[in-house]
Amino acid sequence: MTISVLTNWTHKSGTSERECDCGSWLNHYINFSRTEPLICSVEGCNKKAEHGMHMINSDSGVSGEKIIPGCISCHGKKNTAFILKKETKDVSANKLKTCNNNLYQEQLRNEMKIKMNKQ
Ligand SMILES: [Zn+2]
Ligand SMILES: [Zn+2]
Repeated sequence: MTISVLTNWTHKSGTSERECDCGSWLNHYINFSRTEPLICSVEGCNKKAEHGMHMINSDSGVSGEKIIPGCISCHGKKNTAFILKKETKDVSANKLKTCNNNLYQEQLRNEMKIKMNKQ
């Protein structure tokens, strides 16, 4: 799903030590948005996307933390209200809704089996 609220996103600090089964938060974003972001999602920034940033928004239309691909420089900015690019996809940072979900893990195992059978 494409993100509906574009303004007033803030980067939540102190989350870099948190990890998920995807290997990195950028991989997490790629797995669940089914897109491979090449550039930063921050409006006006065209640097390479290297991090999955934990972002929050106080708008009532946004529920929970989201993972947004960003460059090293935007990832390092704290207390900044970011505006995101229109085509940014909405990926939850909640592991229970994504990679720690039994249904998702089942689906991954099935995809692996299909690949194995094709070889
Ligand atoms: Zn993950
Ligand atoms: Zn950037």
